[in-house]
Amino acid sequence: METSIEQKKFIKLELIGEIFTGAVIVFGLLIIQLPLGVSINKPVIYTVAAGVIFFSLVWHQLIPQKFSGAVKNYIESIIDIFAIATTVHFSGGPNSYLTFLYFLPNIDTAVNMGLGRTIILSFLTSLLILGEAIFNVSDGFSSNLSLAALRIWSIFLVTFYGRFLFLQVKKLDEEEQKIKVDKVREINKLKEEFVFLISRKFIFPINSIKNNLKTLFRENIDKETFKTLKIVEQNTQRLKKQIDDLVNISEIESGTLKLESGVFNLKEVAKETIESLKLSATKKNLELEFSGQGARVTADPLRVREVISNLIDNAIKYTNEFGRIEADIYKKGDLAIFSVKDDGIGIPKEVASNLFTKFFRIESGKVEKEGFGLGLFICKELVERMGGKIWVESTLGKGSIFTFSLPLASRA
Ligand code: ADP
Repeated sequence: METSIEQKKFIKLELIGEIFTGAVIVFGLLIIQLPLGVSINKPVIYTVAAGVIFFSLVWHQLIPQKFSGAVKNYIESIIDIFAIATTVHFSGGPNSYLTFLYFLPNIDTAVNMGLGRTIILSFLTSLLILGEAIFNVSDGFSSNLSLAALRIWSIFLVTFYGRFLFLQVKKLDEEEQKIKVDKVREINKLKEEFVFLISRKFIFPINSIKNNLKTLFRENIDKETFKTLKIVEQNTQRLKKQIDDLVNISEIESGTLKLESGVFNLKEVAKETIESLKLSATKKNLELEFSGQGARVTADPLRVREVISNLIDNAIKYTNEFGRIEADIYKKGDLAIFSVKDDGIGIPKEVASNLFTKFFRIESGKVEKEGFGLGLFICKELVERMGGKIWVESTLGKGSIFTFSLPLASRA
């Protein structure tokens, strides 16, 4: 059975063959009008040319594409060989200048088919050339045979040298392809190792800074030191978030991202997460409101916290001072819906569908915020892996609503 890629190749070859046959016949018919010095039976040649064109149209256009493939191509080559034998016979026999036409189906078979079929076709060609030499004894038997030997030799030479060259080039191509694939694999492995290293080696010192900061905050420190330490705390938080994003991405890509599944109240997780972000909102003079009904969902509570935190964090980042952010939870059918609405900078309509792709950021020049453009991509992966969906509605300059759904626990 041929693969569909293999079949596509032969469908393409048929089209090329059809155009080529047409061109060969048109130019051939023009050239035999020249004073070539050999007797050519033109009516027979015209009939063969018309027959070949008719055959080519029926063969390529009327036979359904599902029959396209190596066998159909090979049968065509054999039929072509007989059409060429007739042309040779009526255009000078053993002395015909048109014997070179035998090269075409032989080379086609040599590069597109197996060795067995190539050998069979070149032997068939040799038999026809030999037959032509023996048939035309009147022209001088020994010179006919010598000419036939020369032609058979040239057919074998061109066919098998062509096949050899083609296979060599194909092999080199495959090797080159393999080297490229190996290189990509190696780069990916390095990337994974690098991210693994970051996650293991950096998380420890970051956690240590955080713990030490907590201790320092308990000390009796002056206002200035408090302010400085707060900045250090914020930056440590940001650094941790960015490292977490990189770790998540590497786990998503390597297929090692693990999710737990439990039943919990979405409202409680949302409330806790929002509480922890209140301070950043207050600092920007933003109102951060949360209302909504309790909804027991089946999901991974830590990952849900991560998603909510990302969405609220974005709302804070992309809303100007004195703005308002509202988070809400409600039930719809067998789904729990969480949404966060802001009256921030909004998102241009034409890029809304790209927001959830990897490394996508809107570079406006006016608002330059830190980030890798990974947060929403990770949110989408996490929500979808927990059986939900995530989407955005937004108006540029007016604000955005990011929403995600999760299956309610009763559904499980
Ligand atoms: P980043 O780390 O850049 O914030 P995200 O994947 O979280 O990455 O967000 C991708 C882009 O989507 C952001 O760069 C920003 O342009 C846009 N975006 C996300 N949330 C909002 C929002 N609430 N309001 C306006 N634009 C947003």
